[in-house]
Parts: sequence; C-alpha cells; structure tokens
Amino acid sequence: MQHNASLITNTLRMAGIRPSVHRIAVMRYLTTNRIHPTAEDIFKALIVEYPTMSRTTIYNTLHLLSEKNCVRTIDIDKNNTRFDIDTIPHAHCMCTGCGIIFDAPLTNTPAPPDGFKCSDMQVLFKGLCEKCKDINS
Ligand SMILES: [Zn+2]
Ligand SMILES: [Zn+2]
Repeated sequence: MQHNASLITNTLRMAGIRPSVHRIAVMRYLTTNRIHPTAEDIFKALIVEYPTMSRTTIYNTLHLLSEKNCVRTIDIDKNNTRFDIDTIPHAHCMCTGCGIIFDAPLTNTPAPPDGFKCSDMQVLFKGLCEKCKDINS
C-alpha cells in the first residue's frame, strides 16, 4: 500500500480532494495503522503531532474521504463507526475478547439478488482471536 506523502497526495487529487496537511495526516495515519480506528482514535493519535487539529476537522475530513471513496466506513462496532483505508472488498474478523478488528480475505463473494442496487457489502466474522482463544481454552 501507499506509504509516502506523494502517493497520498495523488490519491486525494485523483478523488478531487485538495490535499491539505490535515487530510494527508489522516490518510497517512489510516495507511500506517491498519486497526480500523474510530474518529476518536485518529484524533487522539494526531493531536500530538498536530496540536491545532480539532475533532471537527477529523470528522469532516473522514466524512469527505468516505464520500469520495478514499476510505471505507465499517459498521461493525455498535457504538462507533470504524474507518478502513482498504476500499477493496474484504471480510473482517472481530474478536469478542480483546475487541481487535482485522482483515480477512473474502472467499466465495456473496451476490445480491437481481434488481437490487447494492451500495455496500460487509462480511463479519465474530469470535476469538488466536491470543484470546488460548486464554479462554
Ligand atoms: Zn482477542
Ligand atoms: Zn478492513
């Protein structure tokens, strides 16, 4: 995946988004932290480096990025929207022990019925990750 600033800048430009410092910072955080963070997670991580960045900026930036399909929103967590830089369809695994959410390949992709205009598909496996499975067994 893209790690350097110029690739992120290009991605934003191609999506029609002006690559501001804060937008690049949010994209860079999502690219290097593949943890499906919440907006609050991103805010807490970036405020250290960008003290002038407000929560509103983060929320607005994430809204814009998802509207332009640069990030994907996932509705796994009842209380929080999670954000994913990987916009290619894939499944998610959520550990009910430690709360970690990680990617899994999507096999045998389910298809919507004919005539259904699908805008999103989310596949979620819930259970225990390798670490939590061992603790609980
Ligand atoms: Zn776990
Ligand atoms: Zn993901």
